Parts: sequence; C-alpha cells; structure tokens
Amino acid sequence: MKKFDIPAFYRSTIISRIKQFRNLKDPRKKDLKPIALDFGPVRFFIPRHFGFCYGVENAIEIAYKTLENNPDKRIFLLSEMIHNPGVNEDLFNRGVKFLMDTSGNNLIDWNELKRDDIVIIPAFGTTLEIQQKLNQIGINAYQFNTTCPFVEKVWNRSSQLGTEDFTIIIHGKHYHEETRATFSHSKIHGPSLIVRNLEEAKYLADVILGEKSKENFYSYFDGKYSEGFDPEKDLQKIGVVNQTTMLATETQEIADHLKSVMQKKYGMQNLSSHFADTKDTLCYATYDNQEATYGLLESPVDLAIVVGGYNSSNTSHIVELCEAKLPTYFISSADKIISVNSIKHFNIHSKSEHVTKNFIPRKDMVSILLTSGASCPDSVVDQVLSKVHSFFEKVKSIEEVLNEIVKD
Ligand code: SF4
Repeated sequence: MKKFDIPAFYRSTIISRIKQFRNLKDPRKKDLKPIALDFGPVRFFIPRHFGFCYGVENAIEIAYKTLENNPDKRIFLLSEMIHNPGVNEDLFNRGVKFLMDTSGNNLIDWNELKRDDIVIIPAFGTTLEIQQKLNQIGINAYQFNTTCPFVEKVWNRSSQLGTEDFTIIIHGKHYHEETRATFSHSKIHGPSLIVRNLEEAKYLADVILGEKSKENFYSYFDGKYSEGFDPEKDLQKIGVVNQTTMLATETQEIADHLKSVMQKKYGMQNLSSHFADTKDTLCYATYDNQEATYGLLESPVDLAIVVGGYNSSNTSHIVELCEAKLPTYFISSADKIISVNSIKHFNIHSKSEHVTKNFIPRKDMVSILLTSGASCPDSVVDQVLSKVHSFFEKVKSIEEVLNEIVKD
C-alpha cells in the first residue's frame, strides 16, 4: 500500500514498531490474533489492525502539503477533515478555517469566500450541492480534494444501481458527512433512501409488503429519502450500499432481511430482478479493524480502552463490539485518564462523558485491551499506553518488552 508523508508527531515510537514487526511477519494479515505486551503486573493486548487508514493518511498528507505550499493563501476546510479532535485542532492552530461543523451548519458565511481561497474537501467527500456552490464562487472543488477512494467506490456502486433502475438503499447515519455526500451523489442516479439500522430496515420491509402506508413511510423516513420518492413505485427494485464505516454484521442483517422480503413478495424465481445482490461497500480499514477486534476479544482481558474521536463512526463500532463483552472506556486522548483511579470516558448511547472510579481492577496482573479507530494517530495510543504503564510498580520498561517481541 502507498506510503504517505504525514507529520512525524502523528507517528509513534511504540505502536509503529509493533506494526512494522507484525507486517513483516504476516504481510497478508492472515493472523488476527493480538500481540501481548507483558510488563509483569500489567499486560496490554494490541490488535492486528487499527489506527490511521489509507484515506486518513491521504487526507493528512494533502492538507499539510497544501499548508506548506500556500503560505500566502487563506485555507479553509469544508468541515472536520477526519473525526479526530487532535488533528483538527492542529490544523486550526496552523491557520486553517472550518466552514461548517460536522452537521453541515455554517460556521463561516459562504459570502466570505473569495475565488483565490483554497477549500479542502475532507476524506468523507462532499455533496454535489456544495461543489456547485464552490464552483459558483470560482473555487475548484476538485483541486484540494481529499475524498477517500473507498468513499468514491460507494458512489460508483450507487450510480451503477441507479443505472440499472434499482432504488438505492444506503445503510448509514443520515447526519454523517459521508452519508450526506453519498446520498447527494446517489440521488442523481436513482431514488435513494437512508436506513440507519435493522429496526428501520424492518419498517421499510413493512412498507414494501403493504403493511405500512405511504403516509407512514413519509413520516418515518422524513429527511432520509430523495425528492419525489414514491414508496409504491420506488420500492419494487432495490439494492443496498453502505457508509464505509458501518458495522459489517449489521449491513449483512439489513441486506438479508430486505432480500427475504423481496423474495416473499416477488418469488424466488424473480428475485434477481427486484433485489440487487451486491456485496457491502465497507472499506478495507473498517473490515480489518472489526475483524481484528473480534480476534482481540478472544483474549482474557479485564477491560478495554478504545481511543478515538467521539464522532468517529468506525471507532464507535469498535466500542460497540468491545462493550458487549467487557468494561470498555472510550477516550479521545491520554488526558482523559485522570489518575490510576479515575477515567473520563464517552458513552456512545447517552452521547456524553462520564467519570468512572477504580476502572483498573485491583489484582496481581491486569490485562487491558488497547485499540483505536481509523482516524486516531498512533502517537495518541502510545501516550495512553505509557500513562497506564506509569501507574504500575515493578514493571518491565517499554523498551525491554518491545525488544523481547522483536527478537521473537
Ligand atoms: S475509514 Fe475507510 S473510507 Fe474512511 S477514510 Fe479510512 S479508508 Fe477511507
């Protein structure tokens, strides 16, 4: 895979060595078992795959090069470049201005933009409406475009479905930048609808089977269907794509459910004319991170620490997988570990931070699963590991344990 030139402060001294070692030993990622760093009284289990993905490194490289090469220009980002607070803050401190928040609300009026300003499109891509707005101002929306190629792949799949007269069902979060961009690109190719989860897919199934009315459809899916969507006409041929960072098992459940409904309605012999049997459009990083998390969860651990931005979709799905099995603490930085006794962590259900006391159990040997999302720099994971390590006495040093592993 392509190597990107990203600032050294995002790289790490601990995690990078582990990743290099594992990539050398297992370049095809066949072994999904985590690696154990055994310091004596504390052990960390580190997954086979986590941290910065292709799309994030690509976006970071473009953003920092743009800053370096254009010292005299005003540089804007459409919204957060990736869902990591540290990365966005660093860009902000270097003078990059953010035009919108993650929900698409303007932070700066469009009228303030001038034709010689630079606007960077984030890794999630953007909508056709915003591209057009930029073009009208005279700004080329493609010149500093960091849209991830895996997101563009979803747009291509949607366009293919639309061309074959299938309605495009997007499994995603309707408020997420990527899904807003995908919806905008897909609706020019065919009727499009966003479905958040299996519950919504089941509601849609009732509409397809005539058990819920057209009016029910419009009110339940308000704001999530394309203009002119007619559930009586537009749900006869459907295909599913998804936001690249959804939970793979959930997408599969949704596709399976909708497929069985179309089979019930139209019969097995006619299924292929009514349901496009496509593979999910998750990106490789989401897939690898989720698979590595399943591998990680087989380890005998006491708790999990997941590091990443609280609005990061792929990170919250890793949290979801971990918390089904373990006490899980979702933190955005090492600062959230207040002391050996106390951690401030994000609850993905209440969408708020909570402080938990005594999060590290008192026992002779504590085992901790440590991972991060696709937009989290490895250097932040290093800081978390070092901080927790510093709470323990009579531990082996980090260098000693790394040397032992690399010697294996
Ligand atoms: S998570 Fe996937 S789609 Fe998103 S930027 Fe990374 S590689 Fe691209």
